[in-house]
Amino acid sequence: MSEPLDRSTIWPYDERGDAREFHYQRFGSPTVAAAEAALGELDGGSALLFPSGAGATTALVLSLLEPGDTIALAAGGYYGTGVTFAALARWGVRVVEFDQTGTPPEDVQLVWLEAPSNPYLTMPNLEAAAAHPAPVVVDSTVATPVLLRPLERGADFVLHSASKYLAGHDDALLGAVVCRDEAAAEELRTFRGRTGVVAAPDPAWLLLRGLKTLEVRVRRQTETAAFLAERLRSHAAVEVVRYPGLGGVLSFDVSDADAARKVETSTRVIVNATSLGGVTSLIESRRRWEGDRVPPGLLRVSVGLEDPAALWADLEQALDT
Ligand SMILES: *Cc1c(COP(=O)(O)O)cnc(C)c1O
Repeated sequence: MSEPLDRSTIWPYDERGDAREFHYQRFGSPTVAAAEAALGELDGGSALLFPSGAGATTALVLSLLEPGDTIALAAGGYYGTGVTFAALARWGVRVVEFDQTGTPPEDVQLVWLEAPSNPYLTMPNLEAAAAHPAPVVVDSTVATPVLLRPLERGADFVLHSASKYLAGHDDALLGAVVCRDEAAAEELRTFRGRTGVVAAPDPAWLLLRGLKTLEVRVRRQTETAAFLAERLRSHAAVEVVRYPGLGGVLSFDVSDADAARKVETSTRVIVNATSLGGVTSLIESRRRWEGDRVPPGLLRVSVGLEDPAALWADLEQALDT
């Protein structure tokens, strides 16, 4: 019923003294491999796990690019991805931002999209990106394979922060890259083994556990998010609501930073914390992390599995505080 959790770092050679499939954990381990097989099936490719989403991002970029290469990065996407790329600037990784609803710029060696982007919630133009000669990565953390399978739409790689919806309970830090092409997966696997950016068995086991309920969680979170977005649109204190019609993340703006701080500290059911994709609803002002990149009154909500009416009542009382 439940996959065994194997924490071994070593496995004996076979009776002839040859290495078996698993011999040293850095190169592969059974629990991680089982979680990779499950995720690969969901996304329709070959999955590799990394210690975090940011670790997956770093490994993918360092394995694909050379000094002087440029990444076309979706503007208004996950703030941390730009921070990760900036940390790699010393090694010659360059970045240009572009509007992912249009065509990626020419003369870039990698196209990086986000479906939907967080916290602006735009959807990428996958067709335009697929027509670009450079490899295309889609960070599909928010959509999950339940709502989008980017490899079927021309993407070469899917990136997930598995810490979010895939594991789903705010108790495992994990990242994943799913490759369309098996040869590309093999190259990345070799790079991962050599550089040691590999996931441990315990979070992989939690991922296996989380995947069993992924579809019901995401469908329910989408329904509740759509309901809350509609209610927020008709509230007098709310200026803008961003919701792409899929997934459990939405963002909305109140008048200014003080108003946003008041709302986020007044909710009682929805927890004032960062991150997204868990069973508990979360709210935070993104200004504290992203500064001028977002409107001062922007609040991001990750919708959990609580009763939708209770969530709306909570938001309403916080907005009316
Ligand atoms: C959280 C997140 C990441 C980074 O993942 P970690 O597991 O926190 O390292 C990347 N992309 C998106 C869209 C995220 O929300």
